Amino acid sequence: MRMEATKVIEFERPLMEAGSSCVASAWARVPDAPSQDEKRELKEKIRRLLKEKNAVLVAHYYVDSDLQDLAEETGGCVSDSLEMARFGRDHEAKTLVVSGVKFMGETAKILSPEKTILMPDLDATCSLDLGCDAEEFAAFCDSHPDRTVVVYANTSAAVKARADWMVTSSVGLDIVAELHAQGKKILWAPDKHLGSYIQKQTGADMLLWQGSCLVHDEFKGVELEVLKEQYPLAKVLVHPESPAGVVALADVVGSTSQLIKAAVELDATQFIVATDNGILHKMQLAAPNKQFIVAPTAGNSATCKSCAHCPWMAMNGLRNLLQVLETGENQIQVDSETATKAKIAIDRMLDFAAAKNRRVQASGDLAKDGALFSGIGPA
Ligand code: SF4
Repeated sequence: MRMEATKVIEFERPLMEAGSSCVASAWARVPDAPSQDEKRELKEKIRRLLKEKNAVLVAHYYVDSDLQDLAEETGGCVSDSLEMARFGRDHEAKTLVVSGVKFMGETAKILSPEKTILMPDLDATCSLDLGCDAEEFAAFCDSHPDRTVVVYANTSAAVKARADWMVTSSVGLDIVAELHAQGKKILWAPDKHLGSYIQKQTGADMLLWQGSCLVHDEFKGVELEVLKEQYPLAKVLVHPESPAGVVALADVVGSTSQLIKAAVELDATQFIVATDNGILHKMQLAAPNKQFIVAPTAGNSATCKSCAHCPWMAMNGLRNLLQVLETGENQIQVDSETATKAKIAIDRMLDFAAAKNRRVQASGDLAKDGALFSGIGPA
């Protein structure tokens, strides 16, 4: 029998007053795992329908491993939000099935308005998106008109429409460094930890919105130190949405793609990983002889809200994926005025990232181009 559990999630919601927040609550509907027989049947039907409907599956590293495998074997992609956006835009399929959270579907629709964008569950959201209301954010921007507005990908289309730039964690640091070099002052939203990490690395003048990711916010520096003592040879890989005390213990700080790259390339056999545990599937496939350990989210006898796995990413399952392919339900729509404005901010980032890649390819000299990889490296 099909079962779904609805989980209530508490998260920190920033208030307009600088640095203040309240506790808000949201919910996630998490499906139970199908049996092995049902999985096989569901996957078979999904493979067939993807072909019949000229559709491609674009999945995030944090979703269920079955969805990741299915995306890869059917010619789709599994990646971070920057690559998901690029892949979806450039793929010839008429329908993109975005397996992730809502802002990823909206970004896909903004970049490919002529395509049908389906999502397994339209209620899959993000604490960063929930914590950055478009009207409150517009008022914040209006009160700081001298600042260039840079927003993280994890925001609604309406928030992106108010921004000058959208960035992902793989290029955010480079873009802010460039804006800082041009003498610009930044208004950053919504993730306070990522914003503060970028501020420290670049020295830019940044005013930060106080949002946070409920998964990364729970990693604990003190417990991580204890774990490091147990695994003294392990390298620590940290996503910069984590608190500063966790970032300070990192060997590598980077986006999901950058952390996977580091797991493959670094000369170590054990890694402690501070990001959503969905990423371990890809890390283990990419580096099968290495051991990956999830960083601690809470101390002894404490409870954790996410336990290192995003409850909204977990809303993506094989059953609801099949259902949207069968019915065409759960289409993402973004009104054209919002989409046109948001696209300017997204295109700026994509153009910047493409130019950066061209510079790297043109030189081929990694020592010379080291600074171009500034998103990855020692903390
Ligand atoms: S892991 Fe964090 S940032 Fe990513 S979707 Fe979930 S709540 Fe948002």
